[in-house]
Amino acid sequence: MNMFDVEKIREQFPLLTQKVNGKNLVYLDNGATVQKPLRVIEKIKEIYTEYNSNIHRGVHYLSNKTTEAYENARETVRNFINANSTEEIIFTKGTTDAINLVAFSFGEKYIKKGDEILIAETEHHSNIVPWQMMCERKGAKIKVIPADNNGELILSEYKKLLNKRTKLVAVAQVANSLGIINPIEDIIYEARKTGAKTLIDGAQAVQHKSVDVQKLDCDFYAFSGHKTYAETGIGILYGKKELLNEMPPYQGGGDMIKSVSFEKTEYTDLPLKFEAGTSNYVGAISLGEAINFINSVGIEKIEKYETELLKYAEEKLSLINGLTIYGKSKNKTSAVSFLLKGIHFYDTGMILDKLGIAVRTGAHCAEPTMKNFGISGTVRASFAMYNTKEEIDKLYEGLLKVKNMLL
Ligand code: PLP
Repeated sequence: MNMFDVEKIREQFPLLTQKVNGKNLVYLDNGATVQKPLRVIEKIKEIYTEYNSNIHRGVHYLSNKTTEAYENARETVRNFINANSTEEIIFTKGTTDAINLVAFSFGEKYIKKGDEILIAETEHHSNIVPWQMMCERKGAKIKVIPADNNGELILSEYKKLLNKRTKLVAVAQVANSLGIINPIEDIIYEARKTGAKTLIDGAQAVQHKSVDVQKLDCDFYAFSGHKTYAETGIGILYGKKELLNEMPPYQGGGDMIKSVSFEKTEYTDLPLKFEAGTSNYVGAISLGEAINFINSVGIEKIEKYETELLKYAEEKLSLINGLTIYGKSKNKTSAVSFLLKGIHFYDTGMILDKLGIAVRTGAHCAEPTMKNFGISGTVRASFAMYNTKEEIDKLYEGLLKVKNMLL
């Protein structure tokens, strides 16, 4: 595909053609999860109809074939985020699981009483709660990088918070509830100066923009397959090899050992050391296929198209009297969070649903972000490569109807 042809792209997403409440579906809940292209759906079918067998365990044909596909997917992921080695690519259940892995394993090895972890005010709960649990276990403290009235992180405050006790800085590349792109390059650079390690939550980033973990020089990077056009229950933790090598395993079981006796167990090498038990190999292979799909469209083209879409959406929605957009920034991607004055977000979402328009309503697993704005939730429209300006027009018209009905 040379040009960005959104109609051709839409043809590859069978779910998008359905009607909801008698209306053509307008799916604008992509921040929560995206729909799957045919080639991913077909890949899953191919695995189960042609070569499904447990990986890394058999000498037989099917097991070798599935293992090969699984390890090829790991190489596809490595290439996608430009990691140095496949040993640095751990298959997890998703972003949440990846962050919990680091919170446990990195925590066990490196965190002591009195140490500090920095997270941002605009984090998803997945990048808050695992650190709280770790701090409780280890007697460490969480410090919060504040955001301004627009939801942008205040870098000068961040610099003040960094000190010798800071062991890790964990921030999202893109804040899920607002779509704001955080200045992670500066955040990583400053952390490095004090010797703190960095974890970037890329759950809302990799599907929208090109990511190069070596260029970023972050220590860990996490993302989810289901937001990246693959199956649910699969995700990625990237970690620098020297760190992962030093960290103890997160879970014990099959596949992560070299030898087991009742006296002593020897763990295996990276990356399998962190993949105990039967991993979601079908999900992993689907993620490889999803990345091949993204690559066939071109991540730069996707970024350009989605940026235009977001700009169009923000301009169009701003025309509605009484509509407030939360999280105004020049650096945004693919999500617009808003409220209509005097109308509860649930009512807006429910009426839009009657019109076939799917948006997310509530706190978006980011209660501290909402608190910063003094609200309990928003309506969030979030975009993927298959959305169109016509769909945004329908959202606009839908919101006018909501106003007419409720005000
Ligand atoms: N981090 C961010 C920024 C997210 O948007 C999400 C999900 O919405 C997560 C983490 C958690 O992802 P998952 O539920 O796939 O583990």
